[in-house]
Amino acid sequence: MDFVERFNDALDKGNIQPYFQPLTRTIPESICGVEALARWIDDDNKMIFPSDFIPKLEENRIIYKLDLAILEEVCKFYNKCQYKDIKFSINISGIDFEEIDMFDSITKIIEKYNVPSNIIHLEITETTMLYDTIDIRNIFKRFRDAGFEIWIDDFGSGYSSLNVLRDYSFNVLKMDMGLIDEFNINSKKIITSVINMSKKLGIRTLAEGVETEEQVSFLKNIGCEIIQGYYYAKPMPSKDFLEYLAKRKIETKDEYRYWNEVGKVNFLTADPLLSFNNNLINNDITTELAPLSFVEYEKGTIKYLYYNDTYARELKIIGYNSIDKLVDDVNNESFEYRQRYISQIKNTINRDGIQRVDNMINNVVFSHFTELISSVNDKYLIASSFYTLSSKRSDYLVLKYSQSLYMTYDTVTEITPDKDSAVQIYSTAGFAKVYGTVSLRKGIIEFAENEVHPSDKERYLKFFDLKTLKERIDDKYIHDIFSVRSGGSYEKKNIRITKLDNGKYLYTIQSL
Ligand code: C2E
Ligand code: MG
Ligand code: MG
Repeated sequence: MDFVERFNDALDKGNIQPYFQPLTRTIPESICGVEALARWIDDDNKMIFPSDFIPKLEENRIIYKLDLAILEEVCKFYNKCQYKDIKFSINISGIDFEEIDMFDSITKIIEKYNVPSNIIHLEITETTMLYDTIDIRNIFKRFRDAGFEIWIDDFGSGYSSLNVLRDYSFNVLKMDMGLIDEFNINSKKIITSVINMSKKLGIRTLAEGVETEEQVSFLKNIGCEIIQGYYYAKPMPSKDFLEYLAKRKIETKDEYRYWNEVGKVNFLTADPLLSFNNNLINNDITTELAPLSFVEYEKGTIKYLYYNDTYARELKIIGYNSIDKLVDDVNNESFEYRQRYISQIKNTINRDGIQRVDNMINNVVFSHFTELISSVNDKYLIASSFYTLSSKRSDYLVLKYSQSLYMTYDTVTEITPDKDSAVQIYSTAGFAKVYGTVSLRKGIIEFAENEVHPSDKERYLKFFDLKTLKERIDDKYIHDIFSVRSGGSYEKKNIRITKLDNGKYLYTIQSL
């Protein structure tokens, strides 16, 4: 028998069967579908894998026979099993569309078995879109109108993927396992970009060939929705698959819809909440970007070289309807905020990393982040980002109604020596590299090293000696004057530690 005869014989005998591999949601870890993968078990019980027979079926242009046979087996399985909401992905070769009317053939089969169309997902590879003899767009439309989902398979393995995403719409993008199997920093960046792009296009995302916990945790973090791979399960025969399902949570129809919505959230934008429900496809994507501007500083003069729409939007909230007005103000010696602005710029020039300074203008609290990007002679280019603090921060009200605090203290930090923790409540001084809770002991040493004048360092460490702090403070406070960095030089500051309740103290820095 030649190959085609052997294949037809195997089909007749039922020697070609689907194996089932589950598709697992990252949030929560429920089963949201299964891919049917063809296996040829020959008369000697030897398994033949798709890579050994699919190319020959394609050469002979009879791959549609396989694809329809697998669909038929899936329908039979569906009718036998008790799980009526489970969704099946089947693979469709592009050649099928040239050979026969696939829409007609597929709908006939599901009607014969009385299987609903919305549980069948068609996996198509990008080569399908290269056949120009068929109107593939129209075919997809017919399938979709009839309730099928269309998924793009092996994304990232071919040549024209990006055009394909531009010209056709898909429900799910399956990332090829080639992108993930060499799991290095470059592939992580590529995968992240693909996820980001898919979400912007409103396409759900699935990673194939996932084998390790490290990969799962990475994919979950960047918002990849669905995982397929040996980490969860290998493709298995129907009997084993039923046993597998018995031990898992399978999504109901409603849950499937419910969790699909969650999958639309783009974890990778500056404001994930904005990415949701914002008409992903027609949205003006520039409104999702983080506020950014480039400021050029030269000998006391500020220029804005660039700012984006979101930066302008944040500025409006503090009362600046144009950037020109802000530029006028910060270049004006008598403007109250100028001194702080320039001092932040100088800190940024003289220190590594990002400087953050909190301030208040027109009763609106905002944080201004700056970082030195480049310099030549006396010219410095500084990237600036700017966020007004709506009620997002829990200490917002304190900040808003304590305007006088800003006039009094440069920095306010709550410290708990017994727990070795320090939480910065606010700072207008630009010391803070990290917000949130940090190690108090580490913080004291870092501050002494980086911010206190070398001649005051020993005295500062003694002042902050945690072993004797409690008895020295007793019921009130201790304070002393130290020379502390400010811009490019040092200034004398009053540093005070005041007792609060529950082993907590308030650490403040006050300009003299
Ligand atoms: P595919 O559609 O991309 O299917 C995923 C392949 O990756 C399957 O190989 C699966 O067994 C394998 N796989 C899944 N998880 C892992 C993993 O964690 N690690 C590794 N190393 N591999 C994993 P399989 O079953 O050998 O199928 C290969 C390809 O053959 C399929 O790739 C699909 O393109 C094609 N194929 C399979 N069944 C059919 C079918 O009924 N019709 C058509 N047209 N093509 C089919
Ligand atoms: Mg597939
Ligand atoms: Mg694939």
